[in-house]
Amino acid sequence: MRSNKFKIRLLIGIAIVAFAFIKRCSSKETNPFTGRVQTINMTSDQEIAIGLQSAPQMAQQHGGLHPNESYQALVDNVGNKLVSNSIANQTPYQYEFHLLADPNTINAFALPGGQIFITYALFSKLENEDQLAGVLGHEIGHVLGRHSAERIAESEFWNTVTTGASVGADMGGLVSGIGQQTLLTNGRGDELESDDLGVKFMIKAGYNPEEMIGVMEILKAAAGPNRVPEFQSTHPDPDNRIEKIREAITKYKKTP
Ligand SMILES: [Zn+2]
Repeated sequence: MRSNKFKIRLLIGIAIVAFAFIKRCSSKETNPFTGRVQTINMTSDQEIAIGLQSAPQMAQQHGGLHPNESYQALVDNVGNKLVSNSIANQTPYQYEFHLLADPNTINAFALPGGQIFITYALFSKLENEDQLAGVLGHEIGHVLGRHSAERIAESEFWNTVTTGASVGADMGGLVSGIGQQTLLTNGRGDELESDDLGVKFMIKAGYNPEEMIGVMEILKAAAGPNRVPEFQSTHPDPDNRIEKIREAITKYKKTP
């Protein structure tokens, strides 16, 4: 009797895990702008809606928008120049660039669908327009690479697998460990892809891509021994990024 019960649990568990894998296979698609195959389970319109919906809250968490109109105009200018000179202008996304008032948190981030933010703390550390282009180009890379949507799909997948595994054989802990690691690995990949795309957009828009390395140096210096800025915390080691950025510069200078 006890063994039958176990068998049923196991079968249900296997069914849930199988469902997760089938669902993941059916939601694979090739990103037309990066050429990379990824798991996505939402439309671009849904991404845009999520971004627009979360934008005011994100701004509020960083002290709202910065009041200086000429700084905001510079951010708009550089952002729009990057979009209009690259494949970003062929995407369905609506790019908007926001300068946040936050003077303490060195950060930049992108919501799905095109809402892009940079804090005044990071903005004020930048030495030139090219470095601003580097930060915004990297964030445009996250939008166009659909990294948030991919993360959402991945976490749904792992939740379902974890449920299935814990129903079936009480392996939830083990499987969720694997899931987390996968998410982390994807995160690192996301950052490198965004750096690569950022360099490409900089070159297309006539900016000096070497300044992307300058941005990395600023992040490295700002991090200090204890303070890890959010922009950097989930990111690969800056030295590793610099190496990949140099490779991207060589690659895109040959065939921009
Ligand atoms: Zn990033």
